[in-house]
Amino acid sequence: MNEVVIMLGSNMGDRQHHLHTANNLIASSAGSIKLQSKIYETASWGDTSQQSFYNQAIRISTDLAALDLLHLLLGIENQMGRKRNRKWEPRIIDLDIIYYNTDVIKTAELTIPHPLLQERRFVLVPLAEIVPSFIHPVLHKDTLTLLAECMDDGSVTELQIR
Ligand code: AMP
Repeated sequence: MNEVVIMLGSNMGDRQHHLHTANNLIASSAGSIKLQSKIYETASWGDTSQQSFYNQAIRISTDLAALDLLHLLLGIENQMGRKRNRKWEPRIIDLDIIYYNTDVIKTAELTIPHPLLQERRFVLVPLAEIVPSFIHPVLHKDTLTLLAECMDDGSVTELQIR
């Protein structure tokens, strides 16, 4: 079994519903969900006129190889209606592999650990909730240290369930 951390994001339509749907599709096709962070609301990057993002980190156990998992996640994005036209456009769902065991992977299609995770509070805050002491296999620092050192000052707030 492989232990994988996936980051989910949505900034279009019913964002909470999209995260819920993606969780269900991942659980039914990739492997069991072991841990789920709360949902966090994050100011949109790049184009600040867009709806804010809802982000959530999950830890799953899966039999799938990393590249097969990536393809499955891209399939879920497509199935949920994600269109890819231009950078920074609103996203129904974005699924990123953050960690795959302690593997370091660098191919044209896939980079793991996700190369920007240490620069983004919206990744580190949910990550700190589910894997606070996991050691980044390239930077050799745990999540709480990466979060303490992160210079990103974008607001990331726990979603208040209405
Ligand atoms: P995005 O616009 O963020 O959805 O980028 C998706 C593309 O990023 C995918 O088609 C992957 O080939 C590539 N990619 C590289 N590394 C990763 C990763 N760790 N997780 C997800 N996608 C990745």
